Order: sequence, then structure tokens, then C-alpha cells
Amino acid sequence: MPKILNTNHAIYVGSFDPLTLGHADIIRRGAGLFERLTVAIGLNPDKQPLFTPEERLALISEVITDLENVDVVCFSGLAVNFVRQQKAAVMLRGFRTLTDIDAEFTMSLANRTLAPEIETVFLMAGESYSHISSSLIKQIAQMGQENAASQLEGFVPKEVIKPLLEKCQS
Ligand code: ADP
Repeated sequence: MPKILNTNHAIYVGSFDPLTLGHADIIRRGAGLFERLTVAIGLNPDKQPLFTPEERLALISEVITDLENVDVVCFSGLAVNFVRQQKAAVMLRGFRTLTDIDAEFTMSLANRTLAPEIETVFLMAGESYSHISSSLIKQIAQMGQENAASQLEGFVPKEVIKPLLEKCQS
């Protein structure tokens, strides 16, 4: 039987609002595991994002310029439908905590019901990044003082710091 889905192509779906060091770590490790990795920015109608999808795409692209097998796209609708449309066999996700595992497990079971041919592969957060979330860094940017830029260095790639502070402190 011919192989329909590409098992060497994984899609890392998320909001990335904005990209954190935790996300960037998953992207680098995913790029080392799969021949091709697509970072897919989902448009979630229930969330009020800080950055537009185009801004998020530009920021991620700037951070991963050295990774030749990674591309970045935006999509709307169900993630699993996007993965299927791309003919990729793998949806890549990351988890940090037991709470993440609970939510990710439920979501991956729902996705498997919708698209049994697609496998979700999870990478554990790197030990230096398991405390990092996009919502936490937005709080640091909003409530931080004049040293917010240096504080953010431990949480987001350097390319993200200035645009983040501009959004949060304007
Ligand atoms: P979503 O809105 O889909 O949860 P996120 O941008 O918050 O989007 O996260 C995308 C994926 O990356 C999720 O699987 C999430 O668990 C994972 N992730 C988020 N932050 C980290 C981190 N610090 N380390 C590892 N994985 C992470």
C-alpha cells in the first residue's frame, strides 16, 4: 500500500503569542528529529492575542533562520485538519507540567478520534524551560520596571524582547 502521509514531516502547532525560549527549544529539538518541521501558528477565535499572526510568523522566522528544514505558517480551523492537509504524519507538541499532560492527553485523544492516521509526538520541556509560558512572559513585560528587558532574556529569544516591550508598555 503506498504511504500517503509523510512520516518525516512533523507540524508543531501552537499559539506562540509570542515565541518563548521553551518553544524555541522544542523547535530545535524537533528539527533534529524530523527531516522537515513546520511551525504552525493557529488562529484561536477564543483567545485575544497580543501579536497578530503575521507578527508572530515574522518573529519566529527571524529566530530560526539557521534551521534549514523548518518553515513557519499560519492556519485557521482545526489543527488536525491542517496537519492532514499538509500530508504530515506527525503533530508535535511539548509539555511542561502534569497539568499540561492532562490537557494535552485529552486533546491528542480527541485528535486521534478525528484523524487516526496522525500521531501526536510529545517532547518534554527542557529542564531550563519548564517554568516558561507565553502568559508569564506577558506579565513580566507588562509589570516589569526599567529592567524588564534584561529580565526577559531568561524567557524569550532576544529578537522577541523589543517587540514585546513595545506592545506591553506602549
Ligand atoms: P497552545 O495555545 O496551543 O497551547 P502554546 O503556544 O502555548 O500554544 O504552546 C504550543 C505547544 O508548546 C504546546 O504543546 C505547549 O504545551 C508547548 N509549550 C509551551 N511552552 C513550552 C515550554 N516552555 N517548554 C516546552 N513546551 C512548551
